[in-house]
Amino acid sequence: AEEVGGGDKEVVRDYFNNTGFQRWKKIYGETDEVNRVQKDIRIGHAKTVENAIKMLTDEGSLRGVTVCDAGCGTGSLSIPLAKEGAVVLASDISAAMVAEAEKQAKEQLVAGKDELSPAPVMPKFEVSDLESLNGKYDTVVCLDVLIHYPQNKADGMIAHLASLAEKRLILSFAPKTFYYDLLKRVGELFPGPSKATRAYLHSEADVERALQKVGWRIRKRGLVTTQFYFAKLVEAVPA
Ligand code: SAM
Repeated sequence: AEEVGGGDKEVVRDYFNNTGFQRWKKIYGETDEVNRVQKDIRIGHAKTVENAIKMLTDEGSLRGVTVCDAGCGTGSLSIPLAKEGAVVLASDISAAMVAEAEKQAKEQLVAGKDELSPAPVMPKFEVSDLESLNGKYDTVVCLDVLIHYPQNKADGMIAHLASLAEKRLILSFAPKTFYYDLLKRVGELFPGPSKATRAYLHSEADVERALQKVGWRIRKRGLVTTQFYFAKLVEAVPA
């Protein structure tokens, strides 16, 4: 009964404020109370975050760079970015997620804790769905959120995020490859307790087309796979 469906935003919000919040807080956290599948997803997700940070820092220091972390979850990306000196807006549709991200930031971003790093700027936290975000940022990042968008909604979502970004946009999504498609269909035939949300896969070509339509091109690509976690990571820049 945990399943959410239809790409219905209200349902997704409700899920991530309740059972989904409990589940993902655990996966994204450090406790041992995770099962084998959740542990595998934790490891895969950590790699995605690590790769995104690498893409971001490859172009130079993040000190003073403005970043919008759209769908920030518990702050897995926002907090390390703040440690790098980025000026971060951490926003999410789920108030529970935003509250958890803020709590963790307050614990982890202690001034003078690590004297070699630049002084962290506390991110700004906001409860907002992606479509309501506005303003301009050097960089917009959106990790593992597209999975909640069917392709017909994904195009608009990508276009909106690109409109907020001045220099680059980093997105991760579950790739629609034959193997993963199959795995997902098998999962649908045998729904188990770990199957918590309706997942939408995206083909890289579809994501690329959506970016091209609004004048962006993909500059870098990455892929993270573990046993139960698959993410394609792309960095796009104005064409
Ligand atoms: N980006 C974070 C990370 O990688 O650690 C969290 C990923 S989690 C799988 C997906 C997040 O997207 C959840 O926190 C959820 O509340 C958020 N989300 C889903 N739909 C959203 C929407 N339409 N607008 C903003 N956030 C959304």
